Amino acid sequence: MNYYSLNYNSSTVGFLEAVRKGLAPDRGLYFPETIPPLSQDFIESIPKLTNHELAFTAIAPFVGEDIPKDRLKRIVEETLSFDFPIVPITQSISSLELFQGPTLAFKDVGARFMARCLAYAHEVKEQKKLTILVATSGDTGGAVADGFYKVNGIDVVILYPKGKVSEVQEKQLTTLGENITALEVDGTFDDCQNMVKSAFIDPELTNQVALTSANSINIARWLAQMFYYFVAYKNRPNPEKDLVVSVPSGNFGNLCAGLMAQQMGLPIKHFVASTNVNDTVPSYLSSGNYEPKKSISTISNAMDVGDPSNFIRIQKLFNNDFYKLKKVVSGFAYTDSQTKKALKEIYKSSNYIADPHGAVSYLGLKDYLNSQEQDTLQGIFFETAHPIKFAPTVETILKLKIDPPKQVESLLNKPKLSLPVNDYKALKDFFFER
Ligand SMILES: *Cc1c(COP(=O)(O)O)cnc(C)c1O
Repeated sequence: MNYYSLNYNSSTVGFLEAVRKGLAPDRGLYFPETIPPLSQDFIESIPKLTNHELAFTAIAPFVGEDIPKDRLKRIVEETLSFDFPIVPITQSISSLELFQGPTLAFKDVGARFMARCLAYAHEVKEQKKLTILVATSGDTGGAVADGFYKVNGIDVVILYPKGKVSEVQEKQLTTLGENITALEVDGTFDDCQNMVKSAFIDPELTNQVALTSANSINIARWLAQMFYYFVAYKNRPNPEKDLVVSVPSGNFGNLCAGLMAQQMGLPIKHFVASTNVNDTVPSYLSSGNYEPKKSISTISNAMDVGDPSNFIRIQKLFNNDFYKLKKVVSGFAYTDSQTKKALKEIYKSSNYIADPHGAVSYLGLKDYLNSQEQDTLQGIFFETAHPIKFAPTVETILKLKIDPPKQVESLLNKPKLSLPVNDYKALKDFFFER
């Protein structure tokens, strides 16, 4: 499979090259040249296949010849080494838990897959050591740190805003050591992000250090997420009803992966793009005007994105046809007070403890189903983070204590390892002094 840049000003590259680069040289996002269709036989056999078989079949045509089949199978098995349970909430609504991985966020799957693809590329080509540089507001950093921990040929440098990530998130970023370095910035997430952007366009630095990013613009992180939709379809509670999936969205990588799976032929009837008040996409779906905004802080902070970077890929999937997109995707946006009410409602109806992102996703699904003839549809909403990651919010609203899962218990006693870095010059010095 080849990938071209959506700025149309760079040459096409194969899968591994696109993964190593992240962005194309013309700063465009990579997009596959074709969308490989699934066979009818395969779709009919989905209920009998394992998660590993499903994920392998979905991703293999996008990888092409770049990774041998046996190795790709192993990569998929190592990436998906945990469960993805579906929990019924009401008669027509269920939660698909994507957070059972090592850092308790759905981003684990994409980060683990990307790390293993890059490890393979390093093994066969002995390229220059690659440094992944990321800024995080919380969840991305932990998933990337864990995914790349001890991966040969790759260093990871994570910038995070001091005092602005939760205790669990900080532990996930700062306690690993080895090839993972956490840099603590006395500033905001935007300051971290700006330092990363400066680094990528600084030739003095990029001539010395092979830098790449690991956010959802990277095709390995984006495409690996298709797998969730195959699991949702395989394990849907009512096989006789049509499936609607609601996706809590920020940068829209996850939803974009679902739309790709649908275009390959996976029978998902409809998608709901659920957001917090950062409602650029739901507004677009109702007005037809795409107007990026500054991001606003909310309790579902992994979705605080005012100008989602993957939206251009979604438009490409529909050949920029607004009406085609609108037929397949509905958008809904919610305030923090609506999200808090939903957390209570979910807990009351089924004793289920959602996190704020999952609650937004539940609300979008419920409102969409209420607008349709319910008895022909069933809904699954994606629950993208374990509630313990947002414990102060969730515990206050629901007036309870969340049992810490094993992933958290093992972290809390480990010492924090991080270096202070307060401006771009200090970041650059850090790279040159290593
Ligand atoms: C990153 C994240 C999202 C948003 O996913 P996108 O692919 O950026 O739309 C939603 N929920 C949680 C918990 C996240 O960490």
